[in-house]
Amino acid sequence: MIDFLVIGGGIAGLSAGARLSAHGRVTVIEAEDALGYHASGRSAALFEENYGPPSVVALNKAGAAYLRSANGGYLTPRGLMLIGGRDQPQQFQDDLATLNMQPISIEQARSRVPILNPDTAAFAAISENAFDIDTDRLLQDFARTIRANGGAVMTRQKVTEIRKSGHWIVKASDEFEARTLVNAAGAWADEVAAMAGIAPIGIVPRRRSMARIPAPGGHDVTAWPMMIGAGERWYAKPDAGKLLVSPSEAEATTPHDAYADDMVLAEGLARYEEMVTEPVTRVETNWAGLRSFAPDGTLALGPDPADPTFVWSAGQGGYGFQTAPAASQLVADLTVGTPVSLDPDCVAALRVNRLRP
Ligand SMILES: Cc1cc2nc3c(=O)[nH]c(=O)nc-3n(C[C@H](O)[C@H](O)[C@H](O)COP(=O)(O)OP(=O)(O)OC[C@H]3O[C@@H](n4cnc5c(N)ncnc54)[C@H](O)[C@@H]3O)c2cc1C
Repeated sequence: MIDFLVIGGGIAGLSAGARLSAHGRVTVIEAEDALGYHASGRSAALFEENYGPPSVVALNKAGAAYLRSANGGYLTPRGLMLIGGRDQPQQFQDDLATLNMQPISIEQARSRVPILNPDTAAFAAISENAFDIDTDRLLQDFARTIRANGGAVMTRQKVTEIRKSGHWIVKASDEFEARTLVNAAGAWADEVAAMAGIAPIGIVPRRRSMARIPAPGGHDVTAWPMMIGAGERWYAKPDAGKLLVSPSEAEATTPHDAYADDMVLAEGLARYEEMVTEPVTRVETNWAGLRSFAPDGTLALGPDPADPTFVWSAGQGGYGFQTAPAASQLVADLTVGTPVSLDPDCVAALRVNRLRP
């Protein structure tokens, strides 16, 4: 008998599985051929402590030390630059306050990113407190912890049936029996709950697309900060000598293997292009991922009040990696009853109980 059967081999499932593996036998099952195939393999991999609603920021801060130093650390300095157009003074001020950034002159901004167009980019600010996360190593290290603690991580196990008869019986390619079920199915979290006879919580998957373009004007982009347009209308991030550009859309959709919308991508690239001097000559590749949100936009964690042997780790939205160390710890604490270190109001804002009548 498995103590904790985790459904979903993305960052939510692997991190929760790793934490729970200190308390019992864990098996993580993933439908696809590879771990991190869906949202977790398609992220921008940024850690910015102040990005997200208050309970997300609390998780970011609580997990920062882990990301900085566990297993040699997962963060490398990137920096984040906010850029506002001439018609965006108020939006720029709002973002500046939310993200707690330092305003700089356009000339200072251009010394970091020489392609910024001084005719269109009117406002700039910088935060040095933004980092690239080594997301692949983070996923693999959590999987390694599970295995090291005697657990298992299995791919090609798509769950098709869940029933309860004293304990959980879960049918995938194999059949599993478990005392506790952890729902970390990302965009599919409500579908998995429905299979288990647990009421959905209203998870909405929202598509976000990404294009990889060659280094603009042949510049060395390695040390450029990530750039974000005021109002999050686009962002651009250096990646292995190229630039990733996203239209930053949040289109509500159904759970599926997401792909970029050409029109949305083109419009987003145009918004980015408006702020720079180098045109986009070519899109080398593009993709999209689903950022899945609970109705109030923050994570849904812990045992379901209707059946505490059904545990949620869902609604990671656009914050799944930066929140993972603290969110997974909270899931484990709430599941096994170990002391919780986060502020009680923050825990109340994250527990799945808040979404129940
Ligand atoms: C474009 C983009 C940029 C992003 N940028 C950032 C960023 O900079 N920083 C950050 O922290 N976050 C970012 N995110 C968010 C982050 O990627 C997600 O929050 C996170 O990956 C969600 O992880 P997850 O494990 O919940 O979901 P997923 O990675 O989707 O994993 C869920 C898994 O469950 C599996 N599953 C579903 N149903 C079943 C079933 N019936 N049986 C078995 N398995 C099942 C799926 O196959 C899937 O692999 C970004 C996301 C996108 C799309």
